[in-house]
Amino acid sequence: MTRGRSRRYLRRVHRSVQYPEPTNASATRVMLGNRKADTKPELRLRSELHRRGLRFRKNFATSAGGRRIVVDVVFPRHRLAVFVDGCFWHMCPEHGTSPNSNRWYWTPKLRRNAERDGEVDELLRAIGWRVLRVWEHTCASSAAGEIEAALRGPNHAMRHADRLVDAS
Ligand SMILES: [Zn+2]
Repeated sequence: MTRGRSRRYLRRVHRSVQYPEPTNASATRVMLGNRKADTKPELRLRSELHRRGLRFRKNFATSAGGRRIVVDVVFPRHRLAVFVDGCFWHMCPEHGTSPNSNRWYWTPKLRRNAERDGEVDELLRAIGWRVLRVWEHTCASSAAGEIEAALRGPNHAMRHADRLVDAS
């Protein structure tokens, strides 16, 4: 009995150190879905923005500091960039706990994602953009409300742009 169990345990450990194998369908989906355009939360947010009569550009490509940056939603006249961040990939404090399996692989990768978000924010700010990041778990109407507030006044948006820096 004990022998069988420990052999099974060893096999699992052995497998997990070889390569990061998706443990379930949702892990597979998020592995494939890093910074993917037109995710469901993005679609919901965009239709809410439309409903409120706000005009914007989606998946807007720009370059800053020699880097190509694709912004989910942009208000060019206000120079406001909005990102809808996936909870898993961008380490949301509520849902972004790193996966228990393959932690050795995921943790540095997720940390790097969060660092990259900070770099992108800085690059955009350096060329005079304001950056607003909303979590994918934020409902479309609250996210749209934050965006409307940001369009009305710059200070509100800056506070949100600093969120990731504050959290680390
Ligand atoms: Zn979340």
